[in-house]
Parts: sequence; structure tokens; C-alpha cells
Amino acid sequence: MDQTAGDGDGVVRAMLPEARLRVAVVVCTEAARTARRLHQLRPVSASLLGQGLAAGVLLAALTKDESRLNLQLECDGPLRGLFVDASGRGEVRGYVKNPDVDLEGTGAFRWRPALGNSGFLSVLKDIGQGEYYRSSVQLTLHSLAADLNHYFETSDQVATHVSLEVRADGEEPLGAVAGVLLQAMPEGDVAELRQRAASLDAALTRALAAHPRGARELLEALFPGAEVLASSPAAWRCTCSKQRVLDAIGSLGRAEVQAILDEQGQAAVECQFCRTRHVATRADLEQLLAQARPSGRAN
Ligand SMILES: [Zn+2]
Repeated sequence: MDQTAGDGDGVVRAMLPEARLRVAVVVCTEAARTARRLHQLRPVSASLLGQGLAAGVLLAALTKDESRLNLQLECDGPLRGLFVDASGRGEVRGYVKNPDVDLEGTGAFRWRPALGNSGFLSVLKDIGQGEYYRSSVQLTLHSLAADLNHYFETSDQVATHVSLEVRADGEEPLGAVAGVLLQAMPEGDVAELRQRAASLDAALTRALAAHPRGARELLEALFPGAEVLASSPAAWRCTCSKQRVLDAIGSLGRAEVQAILDEQGQAAVECQFCRTRHVATRADLEQLLAQARPSGRAN
């Protein structure tokens, strides 16, 4: 998979062997632009979702390859919330509750007009067999990266720091969307992590200004001498399908499928991640009915 890293969107996992720090670097500019196009996002909604996609890929990069990770933000500001679903292989999708936000503050209050005064941030980890482990913090800093760092301080036992950056390029607000995660490994040098974390936002800004071509170059600019462990593309990917919609309708049971047929003739479901409209036609519903178990009986 190494051939794509360095050319565009990607995620690279590495370590700083002497300090025993784990590093993940993501560039997901194209994924953020895809999200903007699919959801017709105005600039602040697009930037916050772009940051969310980057954060999701970084956090998922810490899990095993098959695992999925969800990042959920709920807030009382006009954005209202965002949701990101990412896999350990760099596949990511997401949405915001309000695509039309274009209110921005300055400095530490840059995202506060969009996020408002209160809310929470949750991380949901797939621990297999449909079970999720959820951990949440109240929003206190009103910036996705800062509140994520607050999450790591309060909810996670492992010293971790995340920096996220969306850099405009001329007329393009999503010129580059990138993120960096630093995490102490067992017996890692937490003091060095804190020292690097203090200047990481500024270092990321400087490195992106030099127009690196991908995650690998960004890693080398930020952490010369880091030992690369793995890299993969980071790409927008939705896992929805018509079959999944049919499976969901079928699981409602015979009476409900019959009711949909009688009352609507067909069923249309729009995917909230990619906005694809999946239609279960009359013929699909009749076939489901032929296969459906009787309602109310456990299978
Ligand atoms: Zn979809």
C-alpha cells in the first residue's frame, strides 16, 4: 500500500524509538472535499467535518485493522453536531447536522460561534460483535482538537495529543486537511510528548505551508528520523448498499413489510453519510415478504 502514501491522502503510523512515542499523521484533503460536495457544506461546516474526518482516521489508526471507530460531537451551537465513522485502514465517512454554518470567530474562539456554549464529545470503539465502548467528555474548549485533547486527559489512561489543521490555499478553503497524533507507548517519555505537543500546532501549520505532497512527507517534516511502521491511503468510503437497506427492512418482520407494501408500495432510504437514495421496489418488498419470518417471533 506504500505506493499511494506521499502522493495524496494517506495515513502513516510511525514511532519515535528513543522516546517510545507512537505517531500517526493523516492527510485527508480529498476526503474532506468529497464530504463537502456530497453534503453541500458551507465553509465552517466543511472545515469542522474535515477536522472530524482527520481525527477519526487518526484515532482509528490506533485500533486493529478491522476495527471501526466513531467520533460524535453534539453541541448547542448552529452546527448542532457531527458524526464520523472511520476504519483502521483509513476509510472514513461522516456528516454534520447542519451543513449551512459559516460563522467563525478568531483565535481560541475560532469555532465557538459554530459549536456554541455546551455539548459533548464521544468516542465509540468497536469491540467486536456489534458491541461498542463509549466514552464522553463535556465540550469545554470549543475546538475539536482541544476538546479531543481534553478527552484524552480525562477519559483515556494513555498520554496522547492531537493537532488538526485545515489550511486554505488561495480561493480553496480546504487547501489541505491534516492531523497528527502523538501517544506514549508503555514506558514512553511523557515529558518529551508534552514538550513536542506544546509546539505541534505551530509545527503542523509551518509544515503544511511548505506544501508537503502527502502524509509521509508531512511525517518527515515534523519528526525527522521517525521509524515508519505502516502506511495506507486515507479515503472517503461509505459502506451503505441497497442490500443493507433490504436486510434492515426484512428484519422488521412480515407485518411491517406488508404494511409498507400496502401503504407506500415501495420504501426509499437516504444514506445519511453519502446521501445515496436506496429504493426498495414493490418487487423487492414482495420478495422480502416471501422470505420474511412471521412478525413477533424471534429467529
Ligand atoms: Zn452511504
